Amino acid sequence: PPDVEALGRSTWTLLHSIAATYPPAPTPREQADLTSFMRLFSKLYPCWVCAEDFQRYMEKREVRAQSRDAFGTWLCEAHNEVNRKLGKPEFDCGRWEERWRTGWKD
Ligand code: FAD
Repeated sequence: PPDVEALGRSTWTLLHSIAATYPPAPTPREQADLTSFMRLFSKLYPCWVCAEDFQRYMEKREVRAQSRDAFGTWLCEAHNEVNRKLGKPEFDCGRWEERWRTGWKD
């Protein structure tokens, strides 16, 4: 079975990088593609307990694909839900773009 920690770190890098390069003003097609991608991702993620919880989370908190900032913030909140579950510190979602797109200012 895959290493759940290494898989998680690589996957968060992929997902937050998708958010970082998602358009500020996406077309309806781009929004539909991102929504489909996230739905399929949550079914195919190869850590089954993780996938189950993540699918449940997505039922409560629908993916926000209206803009880069909306998706980046939604994803940060989803990641924080997993952080809480694992007893890891929460991340300040006001700073997701600094971490994943523009680089830290300090
Ligand atoms: P990670 O949580 O992997 O984070 C990587 C980096 O992202 C951090 O160093 C930090 O710089 C940044 N970061 C942290 N929080 C945020 C945030 N909220 N927003 C933006 N950036 C942030 N593991 C389990 O054991 N059980 C599970 O049920 C589980 N579910 C998961 C569900 C999904 C969808 C994913 C992608 C992963 C899941 N994992 C789960 C793995 C887990 O989230 C971690 O990836 C893993 O434990 C390694 O943690 P880490 O401390 O290296 O940092």
